[in-house]
Amino acid sequence: MARRSPEAAQYRALYADPRWCGPHGIRKQAFLRDLYTCKRCDCIVIEGNRHHPQAAVAHHKVKHRGDPKLFFDLENVETVCKRDHDTLIQREEARGYVIGSDINGRPLDPQHPWNR
Ligand SMILES: [Zn+2]
Repeated sequence: MARRSPEAAQYRALYADPRWCGPHGIRKQAFLRDLYTCKRCDCIVIEGNRHHPQAAVAHHKVKHRGDPKLFFDLENVETVCKRDHDTLIQREEARGYVIGSDINGRPLDPQHPWNR
């Protein structure tokens, strides 16, 4: 396993919190709200095998950076498949904003420079 950054170690407690990962936690609430459908590619996501390309991932749209308010905000969490999380989202995080635009060509991400 890759070496954990200090931030990752700091966030571990948040991800272990029952309000996040419990049977009624934010993670599960997001999957149910999104009908276990990936918000990026529309595939059906699965639980139980986190190495599967379609494994369900609860992704924070705005990086929480350890802030419990952003972390436990259901509106800030979307369902994606592991495949998208591993590729698209990591590229976005490297850039600092979400890739994609609406039908008017406006970037989707409120943090995109055009939307600031
Ligand atoms: Zn997907």
